[in-house]
Amino acid sequence: MTVWLRGDHLVRHRGPVARRPDERVLLVEAESFARKLPYHPHKLTLVFGAMRRLRDELREAGRTVHYRQVGTFEDGLTAHFETHPDDRLVTTAPQADGARERIESLVSDAGGTVEFVPDERFCCSPEQFDEWAGDGRYRHENFYRFMRRETGYLMDGGDPVGGEWNYDDQNRETPPADWSPADPPSFDYDDIVHETAAWVEQTFAGGYEDPPYGGDWADPEPFRWPVTRRQAVRALDHFVTHRLADFGPYQDAMRGGEWAMSHSLLSTSLNLGLLLPDEVIERAIEAYEDGSVPLNSVEGFVRQVLGWREFMRHVYRREMPDLATANQLGADEPLPELYWTGDTDMACLSDVVDGVRERGYSHHIERLMILANFGLVYGVEPAQLNRWFHAGYVDAFHWVTTPNVVEMGLYGAGVFATKPYAASANYVDKMSDYCSGCPYYKTKTTGEGACPFNALYWDFLDRNEDQLRSNHRMGLMYSHVDNKDEEEWNDIRERADEIRTLAERGDL
Ligand SMILES: Cc1cc2nc3c(=O)[nH]c(=O)nc-3n(C[C@H](O)[C@H](O)[C@H](O)COP(=O)(O)OP(=O)(O)OC[C@H]3O[C@@H](n4cnc5c(N)ncnc54)[C@H](O)[C@@H]3O)c2cc1C
Ligand code: SF4
Repeated sequence: MTVWLRGDHLVRHRGPVARRPDERVLLVEAESFARKLPYHPHKLTLVFGAMRRLRDELREAGRTVHYRQVGTFEDGLTAHFETHPDDRLVTTAPQADGARERIESLVSDAGGTVEFVPDERFCCSPEQFDEWAGDGRYRHENFYRFMRRETGYLMDGGDPVGGEWNYDDQNRETPPADWSPADPPSFDYDDIVHETAAWVEQTFAGGYEDPPYGGDWADPEPFRWPVTRRQAVRALDHFVTHRLADFGPYQDAMRGGEWAMSHSLLSTSLNLGLLLPDEVIERAIEAYEDGSVPLNSVEGFVRQVLGWREFMRHVYRREMPDLATANQLGADEPLPELYWTGDTDMACLSDVVDGVRERGYSHHIERLMILANFGLVYGVEPAQLNRWFHAGYVDAFHWVTTPNVVEMGLYGAGVFATKPYAASANYVDKMSDYCSGCPYYKTKTTGEGACPFNALYWDFLDRNEDQLRSNHRMGLMYSHVDNKDEEEWNDIRERADEIRTLAERGDL
């Protein structure tokens, strides 16, 4: 029997590796995985660097590790079963749609068998979620409260600690001008990680035909993500000690030049299994209990990890394969090239896209209210934006990117989102400092120099009226729609067309 650790399940301190200390371990590093999409080089350095480091750590701890650097998974498994005929692999159940069947058939074609064990990277099992959800539509808030009760996190008997389930009213603040967040942690990498980064650069840069800019993520900053369990634990400590207190109040705020704000930067470690959600949550709660961080920040953070992350995983599991191509609004515009190049005068969009090009990261509100919001009001086909997010982000995996982009960002399916997150410059201006340095006029909707978000926003409401007007959560927006006369609508439609033409030409 062999424990097979796949590249996105690098859990060492629990799961099959810990439970079967005498079994050998298999890791398959397949180049074909890296060629599926024009991934950001930091994503490839992260996954391959973390796999290589884990190989060395396990060997140092006396484990037998077979590390196969091969073209495809088929090659890796064939080589494994040639050396160990009729072996049985034990591996964590995968999240990606159809992956279980693909793995079963690959292993059986290569001459072995495979056993799946539960995924330690989540708190809520499929059975638990399905029992909670039944056949009905699911709401995140109800799920989150269910999980609080199930786990007892931030609970005082049957009631939420502090008396409220959420502190959203305290968590929408704009930081004062003299505020600056603590610097993100940095890590000393050994030769393995440097060599991996160089190999990624040499092997994959510019090596993609589609799309035209794929594989050319500009000039990335140095790699900055934890690749070992030790580094990930340090990242968690750093966050809880220096950033968590401000996480709550400023979690929805954006500021040019502050790419991390007070976000945790823990998604890569959680998604790879270097950290597990329960330990992250418990560490944050401890900090509340010892009085070092306020409840609104800790509750806001627990909501993200215990609520949203778990919820998205199960929505994906239940709604695939339809979710990946869902497009209930019939949006059919191609993804503008500016998502790949960052080449636009729009200060908000260009800053956020540049950040993705440099770091493979932007925080949640930039993803939702700048990148996805622009795609939504512009009318980008959801699957195209999903592909871009999947390629560009260090923390992107199909199970988490898809529900976030297709459903939360672009309102593609209506399975849990109750309305589209469409917003104009008014929102961007309220939550950021971008507009003050932008050549576009935030208050203008049409005419020369008008902010593109404005005309596109109204055009979005207009062209999707049949589907959206009856939604009671859109009532206020449609009351503003009704206040516009025909002449205004003509100007808005004309400006929206002009913006699409400018974007297609690369002149926006
Ligand atoms: C359009 C769009 C695309 C996204 N794509 C991804 C993705 O590919 N991978 C990914 O991990 N997250 C994705 N998210 C969710 C969220 O934006 C990121 O998890 C978060 O920004 C990661 O940064 P952080 O670790 O600093 O998070 P923090 O803001 O510090 O939040 C703490 C943790 O909560 C979890 N979390 C928070 N919100 C979500 C959510 N909506 N879904 C799942 N987990 C959540 C993450 O594990 C995160 O590390 C996306 C959100 C949107 C709107
Ligand atoms: S004016 Fe418009 S384009 Fe410019 S930063 Fe504000 S919202 Fe973005």
